[in-house]
Amino acid sequence: MQFEPRSAAPHFDVITIGAGFAGLHMLHTARSMGLSVRVYEAADDVGGVWYWNRYPGARCDVESLQYSYSFDNDLEQEWVWTERYAAQPEILRYIEHVAHRFDLRRDICFRSRVKQASYSESRQRWEVETESGDRATCRYLVMATGALSMPRLPDIPGMESFEGRIYHTGAWPHESVDFTGSRVGVIGTGSSGIQAIPQIARQAERLVVFQRTANYSVPAKNAPLEPEAERAFKAKYREYRALAREVGTVYEFSDKSAREVSDADRLREYERRWQRGGVNIVHAYNDLMRDKASNDTIAEFVRSKIREIVKDPETADSLTPKDHPLGTKRVCVDIGYYETFNRDNVALVDLKKTPITHVGPTGVQVGESWHELDALVCATGYDALTGALLAIDVRGRGGLQLRRKWADGPRTYLGLMTAGFPNLFVITGPGSPSVLVNVIVGIEHHVEWIAECIGWLRRHGHTTIEATRDAEDRWVQHVNAAAERTLYPMANSWFLGANIPGKPRVFMPYVAKIGVYRRECQEIADAGYVGFDIRPAQPGDSR
Ligand code: NAP
Repeated sequence: MQFEPRSAAPHFDVITIGAGFAGLHMLHTARSMGLSVRVYEAADDVGGVWYWNRYPGARCDVESLQYSYSFDNDLEQEWVWTERYAAQPEILRYIEHVAHRFDLRRDICFRSRVKQASYSESRQRWEVETESGDRATCRYLVMATGALSMPRLPDIPGMESFEGRIYHTGAWPHESVDFTGSRVGVIGTGSSGIQAIPQIARQAERLVVFQRTANYSVPAKNAPLEPEAERAFKAKYREYRALAREVGTVYEFSDKSAREVSDADRLREYERRWQRGGVNIVHAYNDLMRDKASNDTIAEFVRSKIREIVKDPETADSLTPKDHPLGTKRVCVDIGYYETFNRDNVALVDLKKTPITHVGPTGVQVGESWHELDALVCATGYDALTGALLAIDVRGRGGLQLRRKWADGPRTYLGLMTAGFPNLFVITGPGSPSVLVNVIVGIEHHVEWIAECIGWLRRHGHTTIEATRDAEDRWVQHVNAAAERTLYPMANSWFLGANIPGKPRVFMPYVAKIGVYRRECQEIADAGYVGFDIRPAQPGDSR
């Protein structure tokens, strides 16, 4: 089935799908190169995940001063963050400010969900169609669809029969949700659940937390951002940004192994970092993600904190992660998560002991126990990295469907392109560091690389660029080998697609430091895009 464009379909140099951090930066960059751009966005406005994730407690676990664009010096100086970790409304205001400041909305079609994108070999163009039938063509198609943007409701028998309110953290209503006087169940204890649970507990009459896998969480130690601290950081912004381009997020990195220090020194260091708050603790030693014995030391430290905070020993035991090394599932950052289980109105149900039997019209059955509920909050995560890409029917050369090509797991070259799909770029997709780094640093790298590539193609009179199968195969092996050298494959995480029944188990992100990855991408570009098949413009083809 080939898309038949109507002659009236407008043509652009670049079409970008998604108007979150990635899509907006791509739009701004492509526009400043003099390219014509259209962005399609399913939502009513800009923001991407920060548009949808309005659940109580939603905030970023990367510090505000680092979780922002670096491409414009004035922008980063003029924007004032109010807290160490910005909450969702503030991040959304920042994105809206960027959209306004660079006049981005005029090139964005909102309420436009793309359903199909097909490559026409004869026209060397992508033909894009939205669900409402809007069509356009472009030379370069950029997928800025997000790594964590396809919310996943759990497959629990009887979910559809529940007569109370059902929410997913990743698709939260715009109007405020009031749980006062309600009996609420939360399913899921990943980053979203761990942020939402303390907030919901304060409002609800009763909260039941259904936990399948206990997670490691560290305190955020969030606080108002002191103007003096902000000024000091901003004065050194260029230095910090340069470092972030190497390491993703700036933490206190160590060059020591956890094994080479005494037990007492190690505990002191973990305690210092615990008190300071945030993911910084995971960087206390340089081998925590590579050496199981080293990882055991930090895992045990966090377990001891859980036992210390949670008063009921049985609840503390259930909350204690035992089946995966710390960090192999994303470490959560919380505000009073473990303390919440000391409240009288909060109960934990350990689904590892007894799984949910079914959901009924008024509650949830777990073995012999019935939990009567007015509302269910699903903090059950996403079809990560590939979900949003494959939700669109993307067809490349010869009508090859991306869904079919990736049936056994995603295959990319540099995480940026995939063989058989000329001029199709992916931002923070599988095979790139994406979700393992401060995602804005990853996005900025990808946008710069794509822009440089398009500029190079145009300067050299080329029309198409496409990853070769051979280069792609080598990259996939390289990404797998990098993951195998770490502890990451030891957890059933969404990094592996393990949260989606039937999804191929492939470790999707590239675990290298972003600086290493950046140099790999740059060397390939500098050498004339090694591993890519590049084709010249056809006679009479202007763009
Ligand atoms: P998640 O990490 O995938 O967690 C989903 C939770 O739901 C897990 O506890 C999972 O248990 C549970 N679950 C899924 N299906 C279930 C079922 N059928 N029955 C019972 N439990 C079920 O999702 P998330 O919390 O939304 O976070 C996803 C990612 O988004 C994070 O890792 C992070 O990268 C990003 N995020 C970031 C922030 C932040 O910056 N602070 C906030 C939110 C999200 P299992 O572990 O057993 O599968």
